[in-house]
Amino acid sequence: MGANDLLFTRAKQSIPGGVNSPVRAYGSVGGTPRFLVSARGPFVTDAEGREYVDLVSSWGPAILGHAHPAVVAAVQEAAARGLSFGASTPAETELAELVRERVHVVDPRGEDQRPIEKLRLVSTGTEATMTAIRLARGATGRELLVKFAGHYHGHSDALLAEAGSGVATLAMPGSAGVTAATAAQTLVLPYNDLDAVRAVFAERGANIAGVIVEAAAANMGVLAPERGFNRALAGIARENGALLILDEVLTGFRVGPAGWWGLEAARVVPDGAGWKPDLVTFGKVIGGGMPLAALGGRADIMDLLAPLGPVYQAGTLSGNPVAVAAGIATLRAADAAVYRRLDTVADLIADAVSAALSAEGVEHTVQRAGSLFSFAFAPTAPRNYADVRAQQAFRYPPFFHAMLDAGVLLPPSVFEAWFVSAAHDDAAVARILEALPAAARAAAAA
Ligand code: PLP
Repeated sequence: MGANDLLFTRAKQSIPGGVNSPVRAYGSVGGTPRFLVSARGPFVTDAEGREYVDLVSSWGPAILGHAHPAVVAAVQEAAARGLSFGASTPAETELAELVRERVHVVDPRGEDQRPIEKLRLVSTGTEATMTAIRLARGATGRELLVKFAGHYHGHSDALLAEAGSGVATLAMPGSAGVTAATAAQTLVLPYNDLDAVRAVFAERGANIAGVIVEAAAANMGVLAPERGFNRALAGIARENGALLILDEVLTGFRVGPAGWWGLEAARVVPDGAGWKPDLVTFGKVIGGGMPLAALGGRADIMDLLAPLGPVYQAGTLSGNPVAVAAGIATLRAADAAVYRRLDTVADLIADAVSAALSAEGVEHTVQRAGSLFSFAFAPTAPRNYADVRAQQAFRYPPFFHAMLDAGVLLPPSVFEAWFVSAAHDDAAVARILEALPAAARAAAAA
């Protein structure tokens, strides 16, 4: 038995399933999870001293690579001044201003679009989306929420229905412990289906508080919205007095400086009109690897939060100074060159994986949303969760393990995105490319 096996056996005695987040247990790929002890740049090292090129990147935050010197220095300096005060700090305002400034585009009409007028910091993406839907309900006085099948917005009760990520990996329809009354207030629709959205608003629009959507779905593998889908959602919500919550926890500051919204809003559209979500949630990159997330949006809605308004939200560690320092350092370092590198690395790896699978005759589609990508073992590109589920998912575990054996750590589920970083240099990419032929053979043989 190696160190990873021993650690997993021991962890299972004290921690449910041996993990603190389900996908880490390798349930859908089998085998023993790697226990990681350190990480630097594009690499992680496990308890047996083996180094892997990392394509998980902490599920998104490590956009600059692991232990980036500027981020580590900022964290060390902040930590030396005190870990948590439970009071306001100057840096929280600095981060809020940074986000407000960063998330803007000049749209095709030349208008400056700024969806983030105010921002509140929380500690996890789950809290951000949970608060956003409470805010939508508080603002509208309505109860129902629309979400899309296969989208993951964290693990609050209202959002677990037909969710992506670990819920998809475990093929769960929802979660035990969520009351029927709560589940009934979440209406789950197929993704990319505007007719379904219009139909549900026609029938129950007067009771719908909001629509929540991943800016580009990336928790059932990557599945970008069809062109105009998000913009149409914003329009339908507005016409019906409901709010659009754009969940950029995963895409925000990763696919571009202004997130997925920034990519879409800057595009030329037929009538030239721009669009803005009412509320936006952030997580992952905004904390640079520390527990930090946020929700932001229209000032009139955000000001409904306590202490100004009647919608309660709070947190002992909200705006934690060490996490905020990591977030500021990460956003400041994530410049145009970083985003160019992410796109280049994503192109190189996605093309190479696709070529390797094709060479072995493995049917697949390349799923892209900016620098996020994944692969579906299907003949045609999926449009929604039902399509994603219909793929030959059994081809992924042998592919995953062949890559792991060759020193490349992929997400341990076919229903997750692959995350690159700006630290993935040519040597790291070369290691990935070398591993591909054997992995593609393993997928073909499955
Ligand atoms: N929203 C999206 C789109 C996510 O991808 C995630 C996590 O993967 C969340 C929300 C929840 O964030 P957290 O895991 O920080 O609670």
